[in-house]
Amino acid sequence: DGLSDLIRARVRDVPGFPQEGVTFRDITPLLADGTAFSAVIGHLADVFSGAVDAVAGIEARGFLLAAPLASVLGCSLLTVRKAGKLPPPVLSADYQLEYGSASIEIPADALRPGARVAVLDDVLATGGTAAAACALLERAGATITGLGFLLELGELGGRDRLPGRELHTLVTY
Ligand code: 5GP
Repeated sequence: DGLSDLIRARVRDVPGFPQEGVTFRDITPLLADGTAFSAVIGHLADVFSGAVDAVAGIEARGFLLAAPLASVLGCSLLTVRKAGKLPPPVLSADYQLEYGSASIEIPADALRPGARVAVLDDVLATGGTAAAACALLERAGATITGLGFLLELGELGGRDRLPGRELHTLVTY
């Protein structure tokens, strides 16, 4: 549809970044286009309107979506941070990357039990980060309403790591 085409035209493909054999999808041109970016936030606001108490953004580009979305919805904004950034007390989750592992954190008292949360990030790749974020937020008492992504890299199978989750992706590669 129109919004998908708008986004697709504003994503720059960067072959060989950050390593050989990978094509990085760079959303910088989309962020630079106020009309297109506003349309993206408007669409996500329609998707999650009335269904969430908080929007959680995954560091770092997920913040760029989560912050304006929370502002439009008038709900709480929550940041899912890389380990070591937040002051204690925190809840953390470790997860596996393609090579090695990583850790994410949220403030221990971020949510009240049963809070309905939407999880936002720019790209759904293998789904490892999003799956870990959902598990961590659920440990903190969240009910995950759904997840929103600008781009889904279909061949990496991220969907399979998020069974039973409601996924909203604006463009699939
Ligand atoms: P996953 O855990 O799904 O494999 O990786 C998702 C994370 O890596 C996201 O936080 C996303 O920002 C980042 N990521 C992976 N591939 C790309 C890409 O091609 N473009 C951008 N912008 N981010 C990516």
